[in-house]
Amino acid sequence: MIEFKNVYKNYGQNRALKGISFKAESGDILGFLGPNGAGKSTALNILTGYLSATSGEAYVDGVSIFENPVEAKKNIGFLPELPPLYPDMKVGEYLGFVYDLKGCKLPKKQHIKEICEVVQISDVYGRLIKNLSKGYKQRVGIAQALIGNPKVLVFDEPTVGLDPKQIIEIRNLVKELGKEHTIIFSSHILPEIQQICSRVVVINEGVIVADESIESLAEAVEGPRRLIAKICGPEAEVLKILRALPAIKSADAIGKVDSDSISYLIESDERIDARKPLFAALAAKGYPLIGLEGVEMSLEDVFVRLTSKRDQRRRGR
Ligand code: ADP
Repeated sequence: MIEFKNVYKNYGQNRALKGISFKAESGDILGFLGPNGAGKSTALNILTGYLSATSGEAYVDGVSIFENPVEAKKNIGFLPELPPLYPDMKVGEYLGFVYDLKGCKLPKKQHIKEICEVVQISDVYGRLIKNLSKGYKQRVGIAQALIGNPKVLVFDEPTVGLDPKQIIEIRNLVKELGKEHTIIFSSHILPEIQQICSRVVVINEGVIVADESIESLAEAVEGPRRLIAKICGPEAEVLKILRALPAIKSADAIGKVDSDSISYLIESDERIDARKPLFAALAAKGYPLIGLEGVEMSLEDVFVRLTSKRDQRRRGR
């Protein structure tokens, strides 16, 4: 459905894309994962015809985006990082305007009404866009991408800047839309990609470092589980208890929280949940556990693990 072949993009001396290739098959929700500055927006802007490439090929449903952009773009709905909204228009008015701009042939009133229902903005149909919350504005952005019912939807970091409730709503909406469309969803948040996507392309410094199913990404980045525990009691005693537990591989104090509690970083093997034995051991000795949270893997950890796994595979050949 989507194919990128050896695409390069230079901004003057800055080489933003260094020959990237990937495919998204029909029905995929493809995650585009990478830190800020990796080249995600550049790639998505090229794919959607907003930006030219320095060299390479890009196809949407077999149509070249460089040679036949008008035809290729008919199959794409795009929500850029900054949604292209007109704040002084009302929601309904704006969607009608986008409909006309796209030269859409579907029955206008009904099509816009259906989209408003899908993205749940019917209640703000008559409101000025500038008066909407960020979450609603993002939905209006998604609604404009849906006009014309394109096969492919491209969302560039659609959850950035939203509050936690809005983030969940947008993620659920994207998953729902994935039942009917091929989706490319960019993000710098690994758990978000794991929740939503079926496949992931990992990009760093303009190079693709992984192209995997979500399951194999999870396998590739498997590592120790990490917890941060806040515990009251003398450091030496607490460390003795923690380190004596078979479920715990390592434990280290990482700082005082207040006058009588200390934070500890605890690691255990990937398949072991140390929380229950940890709680029981501390309770038995009378040292209160006043906080416990999992530490999520950073993107840097993911890159290090992905590249070392790849090197191991190469050496094994
Ligand atoms: P991401 O979306 O992953 O954050 P971008 O595609 O925005 O990454 O940026 C990739 C690289 O290209 C960065 O080094 C960025 O500074 C640079 N870049 C992006 N847009 C431009 C531009 N219009 N002119 C010059 N450099 C740019």
